[in-house]
Amino acid sequence: MSQPDSHEDTEQHYRSLFTYNPDAVFTLNTAGEFLQINQSGCDLVSAKEEEIVGQHYAMLVVPEDLERTRSHFEATLAGNHQRYEVRIRNLHGEILQLDVLNIPVIVNGRITGVHGQARDRTRERQTEARLRILERSVEASSNGVVIADAQLSGYPLIYVNPAFERITGYCADDMIGQSCRILQGPDTSESAIASIREGLENMREVHTSLLNYRKDGSCFWNDLYIAPVRDDDDEVTHFIGIQTDISDRIRQEEVLTFQASHDSLTGLPNRIYLESHLQGICHQAFDRQLCVHALFIDLDGFKPINDSLGHAFGDEILAQTARRLEAALPAGTTLVRFGGDEFVALVPGSTDRQAINTIADLILDQFSQPFLNEDVEITLSAAIGISTVKAMPDNSMLLIQQADMAMYEAKKLGGNNWQWFNRTLDRRVQHEVALRQQLQRALSRDQFELFYQPMFNNDLSTVGVEALIRWQHPDRGYISPAEYIPLSERTGQILPISEWVMHEAFARAEELAELGVNSISINLSPLQFHRHNLVNLLARLNDQYSLRPGQLCVEITENVFLNDPKDVIRQLREIRNMGMEVAIDDFGTGFSSLSYMRDMPVDKIKIDRTFVNGITSNDRDAAITRGTLSMARELGMSVVAEGVETEEQFRLLRQFGCTGYQGFWYSRALPMADLQTFIRALESGSRA
Ligand code: C2E
Ligand code: CA
Ligand code: CA
Repeated sequence: MSQPDSHEDTEQHYRSLFTYNPDAVFTLNTAGEFLQINQSGCDLVSAKEEEIVGQHYAMLVVPEDLERTRSHFEATLAGNHQRYEVRIRNLHGEILQLDVLNIPVIVNGRITGVHGQARDRTRERQTEARLRILERSVEASSNGVVIADAQLSGYPLIYVNPAFERITGYCADDMIGQSCRILQGPDTSESAIASIREGLENMREVHTSLLNYRKDGSCFWNDLYIAPVRDDDDEVTHFIGIQTDISDRIRQEEVLTFQASHDSLTGLPNRIYLESHLQGICHQAFDRQLCVHALFIDLDGFKPINDSLGHAFGDEILAQTARRLEAALPAGTTLVRFGGDEFVALVPGSTDRQAINTIADLILDQFSQPFLNEDVEITLSAAIGISTVKAMPDNSMLLIQQADMAMYEAKKLGGNNWQWFNRTLDRRVQHEVALRQQLQRALSRDQFELFYQPMFNNDLSTVGVEALIRWQHPDRGYISPAEYIPLSERTGQILPISEWVMHEAFARAEELAELGVNSISINLSPLQFHRHNLVNLLARLNDQYSLRPGQLCVEITENVFLNDPKDVIRQLREIRNMGMEVAIDDFGTGFSSLSYMRDMPVDKIKIDRTFVNGITSNDRDAAITRGTLSMARELGMSVVAEGVETEEQFRLLRQFGCTGYQGFWYSRALPMADLQTFIRALESGSRA
């Protein structure tokens, strides 16, 4: 730039500074009125030069800043230049934030006015204010916040907020310049780290939860959200990381999962755990070329003990059993309380059956010591079913089902033994599964019928009938109830089946009475006393069909008293109060205790046909039959001898003092129409 060498040049030089200055440039007189203003100044206040010149600066300044502006103006007039910020309102009404420089104008040693220069800072100030708010929020946030430099290797941190310091125990000085990797430790999930690394490399957002370590070495669960921060050119310059300590939540979840998957009494994993871990346990074993043996362990006779000695003792027995089983099982076994008094042990091992047999024996040995509770000693045993898988089945719970079936077999053999699952068992179970589905269909398609087997007296006249269910199977014809009643009792299907029987029997009672048959017996299942609103149903039917007293008799087996005998007796009393009779079926085969007979609300005893069958050849059968007959007489109960197949049996029984009979010798169970024919024939026979 050339030096101004004349007055004219100097004048032009300063004029350019004024005219072409990108900042607003203006001069005020000592009164504060505009003498001149350049184009930038006019643009800033959105006015023409003539609208401003002659005006006082106060017309632009917002009232709040007026006082301060005036003191700056006066200080300038006093000879001190001033730099300050002021807010003005331009002629469009917009508030602008200006950065102002005031310099006194000195002519011949005298201050004649104020020179001003102003720059619009509105944008910067707004941004700064926003940043300040942001920064304060970040500082105040309860989430840990970190900012890392995205352009340096290792992404060193340039900022951590106080919450980060609080959560991790590291202070800003520890962390600035460091990588967040310092928070990782031995148990930090590799996959979480990989997902973070991958996100950072690809400048993508990442959200993950991982175990992090504090400065003192303790760990916490970090729910981490990382986002890239881009500049105006869309270049990623930083990463921001926001972390939340979710340890409490995770701990709570862990407690809940533990509680849901463990049994509080024994502390063992429960059935839910088994169902969700079985697959994994199998996989682990198969990976090591082992198979998995399942031992299904069920205590023998636990239920009556639990009922009679109290649940506290029952709980104690179960807890002790768990400890004994744990002691007997090899390392690597998963022991589960499957439910009630059932335990499942999963033992990974070789295909060597002998080794498993030894373990099963060891388990049975655990019960040789009695269980103690105060002064009561109880000896128990267990039944064990064993099954094995070598390769992943479609449904791993099948393993447990098979062990359960084998256990059932061990129970049938009297308990205190173990049984392996085998193909014959499997076929039987398959058959049962099919039968169960067909039974369901039989109910909905009305494939059941009632047959009636007459009971007779010493005069050979029919005194009543027993209603026996018949299933007309679409392919197999009539199927014996002996095949499906026990199954339906296990599946619970007996309840709807029995309900059907009751309805049908009540509905037919009148028809039978017209034939001269004044008593109809129906068979009830023990399950009905424990699961069903039996008394109410009988009461409703009794009202609906208004039967005479003694017209209906319910047959129950002794097993019904095995569970909660008091409640069963209560129900039987109510049934008798409605005018119905109660008979004990298959007497002598079940849980026979002569002393309990004394207090039973029972009208009739049906001597089981196995005794009747042996009566002519076996002295013991004959003795039992005579004993039963005399006991019944003493207690004022009537008796029916079942399964009378020969005249010889009938004569001998009559000789023993029997008065009621039932059996093929007299008649099989007949459909209603045949029964009518049978009875009419009898009547004409006796007339003849
Ligand atoms: P149960 O109650 O002991 O019924 C008597 C069974 O003995 C009947 O077999 C009957 O046909 C058979 N029987 C009768 N007289 C003789 C005989 O002289 N010799 C031989 N060997 N057997 C004879 P069924 O009808 O096959 O019934 C078998 C069992 O099924 C019944 O034994 C009963 O426990 C059950 N059952 C039958 N119907 C029902 C029912 O409606 N409800 C329930 N809960 N169970 C039923
Ligand atoms: Ca019966
Ligand atoms: Ca019977």
